[in-house]
Amino acid sequence: MVSMLQVREIEQRLRSQQRSLPYLNIDGARRLLGLPVIHSDEVFSSWIVRIMLSRKINKRKLLEEINWKEAIHLADLKPASFNLKHLVLRFNLIQIELLERSFLQFEMPFVDSLCLTTDILNRKPIFRFCPYCIAEEPYIRKSWRYAFSYACPDHGCLLLEQCTQCGESIDFEKLNISKMDELSIHDLSSCLSCGTGLSSQQPHRISDRAMNIVLDRQASMFRELSSGVRINNYIAQIRYSENGLLNCLNVGVSGSLIFKEDADEVRTAFRKAGIFSTSYWQPSGCIPVTKGVGKVKRAKQWVIKHREQL
Ligand SMILES: [Zn+2]
Ligand SMILES: [Zn+2]
Repeated sequence: MVSMLQVREIEQRLRSQQRSLPYLNIDGARRLLGLPVIHSDEVFSSWIVRIMLSRKINKRKLLEEINWKEAIHLADLKPASFNLKHLVLRFNLIQIELLERSFLQFEMPFVDSLCLTTDILNRKPIFRFCPYCIAEEPYIRKSWRYAFSYACPDHGCLLLEQCTQCGESIDFEKLNISKMDELSIHDLSSCLSCGTGLSSQQPHRISDRAMNIVLDRQASMFRELSSGVRINNYIAQIRYSENGLLNCLNVGVSGSLIFKEDADEVRTAFRKAGIFSTSYWQPSGCIPVTKGVGKVKRAKQWVIKHREQL
């Protein structure tokens, strides 16, 4: 019988190693110790990607271990797809509560809620970041993945949506370990596309008044979300007709419904900076579309594909 203290000591020692780790047989369980720790406010996909970047387990093997075949960002919305008890037995000495907390959960079907964490029309995930938080500890905070999360309350700045050097957004699907080797990337402190440090990048500036409105409304959105208010009250939906039938697609959040009487001021500030395109400003949250229907239909196909796969 190995004591918990001994296991923790082994884990500490292994964490400082640079190379891949051996599985250890501990009290009948085959464990991998010494992987990066999951932070209490970290989103699941960020932890998985940091494990990949640590090179302590091969990417393919890790995906096999967690039994995940889809895009990594989609894992954040699908806690029921994972056997968390198995992961707790397999990796580090993590508490199951920390893993449970790392998922984004909405009181609505997966396909309907996809637009709250994904840029549906451009078919890519939302991974915003605060450069100052990244400087403190390079991982993706769960709160940054929500479409209604615009600013960092700790540092009072807007979140960045893309690398200011190369213009690419963070997308874990681009993660290719040999490219990461070339760029010497070992954690999430650098842009995965060009290798530039994220912590030195400058967020867009808006007036103090607009910033206070954003921080205030964003905080109440998080309060509402945690108190069980249905977040679908804030969704923006595109409506279009196809073969005489009315179709709809959830595409993001409604800035008008979130910011209410301050919506014009916030919209002007965001538009001037050219940011947060998944927030829509039609007063009702419904967007009638007649032009560019092709793009909407392709996005709808993409969403339906996810419904079939998951
Ligand atoms: Zn911050
Ligand atoms: Zn970049």
